[in-house]
Amino acid sequence: MNNSYDTLLSHLRKLPGLGYRSAERIAIHLLTDKAQSGNDLIRALEDAQAQLSSCEDCGNLCEENLCEICVNPSRIKNSICIVENVLDLMAIERSGTWNGMFHVLSGKLSPIHGVLPEHLNFKSLISRIERNSIDEVIFALSNDIEGNATCHYIQDLLSTFSKIKFTQVGFGLPSGGGVTFADSSTLKSAFDGRKDYD
Ligand SMILES: [Zn+2]
Repeated sequence: MNNSYDTLLSHLRKLPGLGYRSAERIAIHLLTDKAQSGNDLIRALEDAQAQLSSCEDCGNLCEENLCEICVNPSRIKNSICIVENVLDLMAIERSGTWNGMFHVLSGKLSPIHGVLPEHLNFKSLISRIERNSIDEVIFALSNDIEGNATCHYIQDLLSTFSKIKFTQVGFGLPSGGGVTFADSSTLKSAFDGRKDYD
């Protein structure tokens, strides 16, 4: 068609979960919609990018220094569930199955893809555990080589905190999006059936 259209389409196609046809439908909708949803979308995206950042404690998205979960006095403070990303956190929150704390790693260890310990949210995890009385660390990472390597790394990292019990959600999460795409009842039984991690 023309350069600006092709550029828009190529950016949409980079978004996760969008194939060519979906990207094309969205591009045409945004460009021809009389209600100007394209402008509204641009404003909403700019606002979200300006307002949102990572919670200083857990890595969740929030508009203040700390997220709503970290400052909520009714949450169980002595248990931390480790997740790979904010999508996984949101899926577990939606299921209503977990009332403890979270820690978002922003990935999992994968030396082959250049993801090393310094790229993940480990420093603030240690800092939280030093500042708080943590009894349980629950791993809710995907069940693949990288997820398991990350669990082992964290267990070693926290080995000096002898009081901590390490557990793992009680079902085999498929690699890639296992938590994000699990339904609420699956997540509930996963948390209820969590087992000691060794
Ligand atoms: Zn937080």
